[in-house]
Amino acid sequence: MSNKLLFVIPSSFYLEEYHKLIFNKIFPIDALQLSSYLKKKHTNIETNFIDIRFENRIKNSFLNNPNNGQFKEELVKLFEKNQIQNFNKIILNLTLSSQYLQADLIANILKKEFNDLKIIVCGYHPTAIPENYLYKKSPYDFLILGEPEETLNKLIKSKKSISSGQNNGPKVLHSEQLVDLNTIPLPDFHTYLKKYPFKNNFNFTISMSRGCPYNCRFCRILKNGGLRNMKFDIFKEKFDKLKEIVLNYNKKKPKIVFNDQCFNSSQISKRVLNLITHDKLHDQFSFSCQTRAELILKYREQFKKAKMRIALGLESASKILLIEMNKTKNPTKYLEIFKEIINFYKKNNEMFCRLNILIGVPGETENTVNETLNFLKNNVSNNNIEIFPSLYSNEPFTNIYQNMKYYESKFGTKFIKEWWKIHSDPIKNSVLLKPSKNYSKKQLIGDFKDKFFPFIKNYEQISKIALIIWKIYYNKWYDELY
Ligand code: SF4
Repeated sequence: MSNKLLFVIPSSFYLEEYHKLIFNKIFPIDALQLSSYLKKKHTNIETNFIDIRFENRIKNSFLNNPNNGQFKEELVKLFEKNQIQNFNKIILNLTLSSQYLQADLIANILKKEFNDLKIIVCGYHPTAIPENYLYKKSPYDFLILGEPEETLNKLIKSKKSISSGQNNGPKVLHSEQLVDLNTIPLPDFHTYLKKYPFKNNFNFTISMSRGCPYNCRFCRILKNGGLRNMKFDIFKEKFDKLKEIVLNYNKKKPKIVFNDQCFNSSQISKRVLNLITHDKLHDQFSFSCQTRAELILKYREQFKKAKMRIALGLESASKILLIEMNKTKNPTKYLEIFKEIINFYKKNNEMFCRLNILIGVPGETENTVNETLNFLKNNVSNNNIEIFPSLYSNEPFTNIYQNMKYYESKFGTKFIKEWWKIHSDPIKNSVLLKPSKNYSKKQLIGDFKDKFFPFIKNYEQISKIALIIWKIYYNKWYDELY
């Protein structure tokens, strides 16, 4: 019997335009990866996608008022139009906790309207908070915890009938076997782009590794399995295929982003930089990656030759917070390394670099924010360095989330535990109510929007429209707070 799998990609309810613009550029890469992997393993599999973000039937007004019946009505019509009766399994692979409310409503509607469908839920949020899926009359048939490729593969291979039922709750499957990266094909861009063939819209990504050897406490990556690498030849084969797709779809601005958590931790990163330089790929594509400051100093000339843009997580210049975040054990040396990198970019102003700053972690105060600002003022005067501040989002997979009591007692931090269940903008709700005793959310947003804006606008490649949208969003948010 052939297996027809439908990947449903939920958006998020109550999201404002500012974040839609950002999220709509991102491929649901985990779902695309699962699709290609399962097709490689099983010749009798067909897959397709429904990405709610791009379904015009589901209008914005329904996404801000999901319980008025129209969302349900249009969702059912959408699935009927997509011949839901031809599929036997629905897969909800949830990358963001902000998708939770919508994904859960979709699963409940589908189970009620199309009772024969088996619904499988997996991904970051279900792995972090399985209890969110284990409630009475849960619509899910299977809940996969951990990396899903191999478990889904076995589930599809299994000839036994499915023994879970809604009344007993989903069958919980623990992914014990991690996938060998050398067996993973290129994500299934082909099927997805057939359905959503938007030219010059998406950011194409590729990776050479999974995992990260570091352990920053605010980071939301799956920590199981440590760092795993791909062989160069396997990577190259996928890279060549991806280049063709990118040239076809993003003709205006061909760009490839390395999705590795830490580019230089990958064993083949040096060879990949040499490949880009040797084949002069930088004349055709722009490349970018994220990596660690400590690792790039000895590679800076190679980055320069490959014209690779790098993003570095400086996060903060507060020594207390750097230790608290487990970013480094030696903040003085850490900040010196950043100064050296900034000086390198000062001398090489045709190169571009991004410094990520994370504001609003537990323990943040007006003073720690000012320490970071002073570091930036004193060191970054060049406009080929983009300062990219973002607010700490209390994602459930982070070490911080798992140790909230510690921060409550040490700094007087105030968290909202299950912010993804609140019926309002999840991005705003994920930010801490109080990073520390004497620093409120209102002060945090005020400092963020007023004190960091001059740095953001200093970057020579930032668009005026992006700046205006940024300003409007944060000013409005600030006004809403009391
Ligand atoms: S923030 Fe970056 S360096 Fe730190 S654990 Fe996460 S991926 Fe690794």
